[in-house]
Amino acid sequence: MSDRKAQGVSETAIVLEIYDRLYAAFGPQNWWPADSPFEVIVGAVLTQNTAWTNVEKAIARLRENELLDTEAMMQVPEERLAELIRSSGYYRLKAQRLKAVLRFIFQSYNGRLDQMFKTEGSVLRQKLLSIKGLGPETVDSILLYAGAFPFFVVDAYTRRIFSRHEMINEKQSYHEIQNYFMTGLSNKTRLFNEYHALIVRTAKSYCHKILPDCVSCPLGTLPGFEKQIRETK
Ligand code: SF4
Repeated sequence: MSDRKAQGVSETAIVLEIYDRLYAAFGPQNWWPADSPFEVIVGAVLTQNTAWTNVEKAIARLRENELLDTEAMMQVPEERLAELIRSSGYYRLKAQRLKAVLRFIFQSYNGRLDQMFKTEGSVLRQKLLSIKGLGPETVDSILLYAGAFPFFVVDAYTRRIFSRHEMINEKQSYHEIQNYFMTGLSNKTRLFNEYHALIVRTAKSYCHKILPDCVSCPLGTLPGFEKQIRETK
């Protein structure tokens, strides 16, 4: 148990303090980097198991070919779609996944994202999770960043940072970790939006997998965590 927890500081207070520190250090991150909700959905599928720079190249090719549109992407042959998104890796699989998402949007909502996002959040979440190849991180990214639903996105960076601070166990399930953040911070879409982006920024800037830079990191002076951070080094 961290010193702070032992002192009776609530989990919510710690989670909010971390947010405040990261926001003060990095400012607004303006996520998700996309021009439309459909582009967010495409990016959320393409970013699976690859770096965002590879996704950007694929999105640029889709834009050049005027395919960042549900109707246009639904019409394009899957093989052609795969070719255009090649830079994102696992491109045949990702083309299949994009087509599966599109079939769902057309079969259930007549191709209308505005209709899809009128569905109650937890109902839509279950429906999206039933699409082959969409796991909770992808689905929650879509719900939060394309649909403005209050679902906290958990990724490898979240596990790394918060387990290093002994607030979660890295091996906990996705939903256990998500519940940790959402308990006490319910229905805070704006906060969840910014918080996930700030976590990604922190991990990329300081909380590297090997040799985290705790001295420079905005969380390096978080009171009560000095012991854990020393052990991380
Ligand atoms: S770099 Fe150090 S202080 Fe910053 S989040 Fe990672 S473990 Fe915490």
